[in-house]
Amino acid sequence: MDPAAKIGPVLELLEQQYPKVYVTLDFSNPLELLVATVLSAQCTDVRVNQVTPALFKKYPTAAHYAQAPVAELEQAIYTTGFFRQKAKSIQGLCRALVKDYVGQVPSSLEELVKLPGVGRKTANVILGNAFGIPGIVVDTHCGRVAQRLGLTKEKDPVKIEFDLMGLAPKERWTRFSLQMIWHGRAICTAKNPQCSRCPLLPYCDYGQQAMGAVAPK
Ligand code: SF4
Repeated sequence: MDPAAKIGPVLELLEQQYPKVYVTLDFSNPLELLVATVLSAQCTDVRVNQVTPALFKKYPTAAHYAQAPVAELEQAIYTTGFFRQKAKSIQGLCRALVKDYVGQVPSSLEELVKLPGVGRKTANVILGNAFGIPGIVVDTHCGRVAQRLGLTKEKDPVKIEFDLMGLAPKERWTRFSLQMIWHGRAICTAKNPQCSRCPLLPYCDYGQQAMGAVAPK
């Protein structure tokens, strides 16, 4: 089935399966989400959420991170893993925010991806969830589910993002990618996709092959 033909039913089924989706990192402003997103690399969101309440209280602005002794910042984020690299990234980011954006997180993709260490994935997390500007976040889950469904043949996350942008209506981009991420965590897991209980099975290339199911006309 052609990706353009299946995207409608896929969007509808995802909406039914995951009507209330949200980013699972706790935050109350764009800076907090940016910092939490950096911390979430190679770490669970649950663990990040355990660390961030004290962190956000101690460093309420970009200037606080920019001026912090790095050892102190490392100590504050230690349990999220890769703490030296993450402390360096957060400090570099916040110094750029102070220098170029009076300490505020910019609200355009073009500006966000110019910040040190910020790629399109992080930029789209911030745009969609802190600013309400549509963006498709292609993380490992979203990319895997898109490939299995047959919505893309690409492997590169940026190319997958562009394929999905061409298929889904813009106003659905943020919700769609969150729903794909949730689906990848809950059902379409990397090692053990549960195709037999997946509502997307009739529209999924991988699932139909795995289950010997029949695709809708
Ligand atoms: Fe993933 Fe299987 Fe569902 Fe396809 S049918 S989206 S492979 S769980």
